[in-house]
Amino acid sequence: MKIAIIGGGAAGFFAAINCKLNYPQHHITIYEKSKKTLSKVKVSGGGRCNVTNATFSIADLVKNYPRGNKALKKVFNQFNPKHTIEWFESRGIPLVTQHDNCIFPKSQQSQSFIDLFNAECKKLGIPIKTQHKLNSITKIDSDFELEFNDNEIIKADKVIVTIGGQPKLNGLEFLKDVGHQIINPLPSLFTFNMPNEPITKLMGIVVEHAIVKIQSTKLIDKGPLLVTHWGMSGPAILKLSAWGARILEDKNYNFNIQVNWVNETNSSVVENQIKDEIFKHGSKKVANQKIAHIPTRLWDFLLEKLKIDTQKRWSELSKKDVNKIINTLQNDVYKVEGKTTFKEEFVTAGGVDLNEVNFNTMQSKKVEGLYFAGEVLDVDGVTGGFNFQAAWSTGFVAAKLS
Ligand SMILES: Cc1cc2nc3c(=O)[nH]c(=O)nc-3n(C[C@H](O)[C@H](O)[C@H](O)COP(=O)(O)OP(=O)(O)OC[C@H]3O[C@@H](n4cnc5c(N)ncnc54)[C@H](O)[C@@H]3O)c2cc1C
Repeated sequence: MKIAIIGGGAAGFFAAINCKLNYPQHHITIYEKSKKTLSKVKVSGGGRCNVTNATFSIADLVKNYPRGNKALKKVFNQFNPKHTIEWFESRGIPLVTQHDNCIFPKSQQSQSFIDLFNAECKKLGIPIKTQHKLNSITKIDSDFELEFNDNEIIKADKVIVTIGGQPKLNGLEFLKDVGHQIINPLPSLFTFNMPNEPITKLMGIVVEHAIVKIQSTKLIDKGPLLVTHWGMSGPAILKLSAWGARILEDKNYNFNIQVNWVNETNSSVVENQIKDEIFKHGSKKVANQKIAHIPTRLWDFLLEKLKIDTQKRWSELSKKDVNKIINTLQNDVYKVEGKTTFKEEFVTAGGVDLNEVNFNTMQSKKVEGLYFAGEVLDVDGVTGGFNFQAAWSTGFVAAKLS
């Protein structure tokens, strides 16, 4: 049987190798449009490749996928981070887990995975045909006819499509032609631009526990927040961008965010903290005695923004000043005007409609013998190794050809 794997990325290699292990007698070939394979693996995680995440409960794992969470349960029951660790470690790539649960190769080099995949393909006899861009798929009886860029036609019995996230709809046109619905592709995992907000002069400041909310939506997230020279970034912002990918695109990336710098939503708790400061440090100048874990430069910036005389002592603050401080610590509003794609990791939301794929097998419900894996699907995760985990898991399940 001839099996064509379309796309030489993470999902494509994983599907090809596992398929050959399942069916040694089948002829499996990877077709890749560019000159190089595994380009994203190479640059991933800043060149270190965050291969998966130590989230071992499937119920918790799926919470990291703004799109695809329910469907992915079915594949994670078959292949999840535990299996990923076993798969790579048993093939000679020891992995290490960071304090934030992100898992990397001990070598800290994404090249370790590339070398492994290439060596496995060589050992198993899986040819890799680069500069083969698939243009169309035609099903003739039970066979597939695949047309590549230079009009080369190849026949296959089964096809696994792993062409990754496509920034534009036309990259997915050939799937529409075989009857698949495509959810409009759009970026996920980006940072917020704030060209007119003076907070950018505090670039480099990190608040470990912030709550960020997008005004007039239900979008809210928490975690570390980083002030950059163009706006805001850090896990809290990236998660918000992923969960809000479609809503924020509708707003043309113009909206207000509300930052809670103290990770406390109850205003009486913050008020008590301030009363405590007044009680304990009433004679100290407000500028010299900050609240909670606010970085000093941020505290100075907020006081300046509130036009509070920093030379005043805590005991000299009026009730109005205290209320202004409480309100700013909990609901500090900034105007976002545009986005920047995160250089370390970005993904595409949208792709093949999940309703048209059987996630027990990754087979198309529209075309028998056609399978999908990886980011070509309308699946994406937040940062932390979740996107590769989805590629490994869907690739592993597709490779069963069930
Ligand atoms: C800079 C960066 C860093 C990242 N870091 C991480 C990380 O550390 N951890 C993590 O979990 N995720 C990370 N991601 C996301 C992760 O890389 C992707 O989710 C993952 O690569 C998806 O795998 P895939 O095989 O589906 O797609 P891809 O890796 O994109 O592979 C698809 C392949 O198909 C080829 N192709 C496309 N169209 C055709 C066609 N018509 N015919 C033939 N071939 C075609 C492409 O050239 C490509 O080689 C990162 C992404 C970026 C951009």
